[in-house]
Amino acid sequence: MRIAIQGGRVIEPGHLDALADILIEDDKIVNVTRRAETESITPATDRRMQHDRIIDATAKIVCPGLIDMHVHLREPGHDYKETIESGCRAAAWGGFTAVCAMPNTNPANDNEQVTEYILSKAVQANFARVYPVGAISKGLEGRQLCEFEKLKAGGAIAVSDDGCPVMDDRLMQMALETAKRCGLLVISHCENLKLQAGGVMNAGPVAEQMGLPGIPNSSESAMVVRDIALSERTDAPVHIAHVSTAESVQAIREAKLKGIAVTAETAPHYFTLTDEAVREYGTYAKMNPPLRSAKDRAAIRTGLADGTIDVIATDHAPHAVHEKTVEFDKAANGIIGLETAVALGLKLVEEGVLSLTDLIEKMSTGPARILGLEKGIRMGGPADITIIDPDVIYKVDANKFQSLSQNCPFDGWRMKGKPVLTMVEGQIVYESGFE
Ligand SMILES: [Zn+2]
Repeated sequence: MRIAIQGGRVIEPGHLDALADILIEDDKIVNVTRRAETESITPATDRRMQHDRIIDATAKIVCPGLIDMHVHLREPGHDYKETIESGCRAAAWGGFTAVCAMPNTNPANDNEQVTEYILSKAVQANFARVYPVGAISKGLEGRQLCEFEKLKAGGAIAVSDDGCPVMDDRLMQMALETAKRCGLLVISHCENLKLQAGGVMNAGPVAEQMGLPGIPNSSESAMVVRDIALSERTDAPVHIAHVSTAESVQAIREAKLKGIAVTAETAPHYFTLTDEAVREYGTYAKMNPPLRSAKDRAAIRTGLADGTIDVIATDHAPHAVHEKTVEFDKAANGIIGLETAVALGLKLVEEGVLSLTDLIEKMSTGPARILGLEKGIRMGGPADITIIDPDVIYKVDANKFQSLSQNCPFDGWRMKGKPVLTMVEGQIVYESGFE
């Protein structure tokens, strides 16, 4: 199978940003050729002899396959919210060629049998690569360390107790030491449950006016500071999940300056919304960590721009309608994000926060570097490619999502730009508007 992607703006962060043609043979990229801007596309009919398919990517962005390193696929155990199949389909439609699957399933992914089950389902679904994240502690209970070597052998790429913090400092230190030895990344959900103290939204004027208990910034940043200290002590890398506060950004910035092996991600909702959104969207603006103040959102944006925050990940968290249409304090935490992430990222570019290259880096080669994956548009590399139409204007319709759930505050938003083709290992898993 030979596929040519022609005439697109090919962006390989740090290496290439030019009009170029890409040739794919089976599962590999075999050629990348720059073209002069004036050169026109060879008519498809002339080349049909040599290629099984020619994709005209004129006026489109062609970039390394996007990687979402924070996704809840909900299977096993909660397949009424999402299945591995529906989640991977949503990933493909959202331009993602790979996702990391968080372990807070039922049973939790705390042993290699669950890891292998997730991988087998992902292969069946055949929409996106799935990299399972194993649990740090058995049952995510924060007491007993999982067997990291077995998780790794089963196919886990990282470990995390995401959804629950590891409150025990000693256990977290052991996790970092053991993970380093096994070659696994530790992804930390930073939340101090004692400081969190039963809050359900960001602590501040909005929570006070709404009569809801607040979650202070310190419940996140205190744990970020702890994890940085443990990373420094053990000389093991730590990746901070879903950063939401200005204090966390500052702590990570200072740690990086000191050369500590800390990396960080934020999610589109933290750079797009503030806690004011709770008034408008109710439980569809409830997540953990919560949406914060305008000052925090500005700090997140600065952190993305100056490189403190390496990655944009969605924290895609599907929930059924009945889990969201309840009183605010009883509603489940989280929103889905796979199918709106690219558009929200492009808003940052339009607003001048990030360059297009930086955005793509934070959604593809950035996570690949942190996870130790081979990625990028280069000869001989795997043909994982995303094509984005940056100009198409449309309204988000959550009813048309591939995800089984619709818990999305961005439903009805006017957006500019969306993925139009997703290719995994040379196979087109999603396309829209090419034929
Ligand atoms: Zn989390």
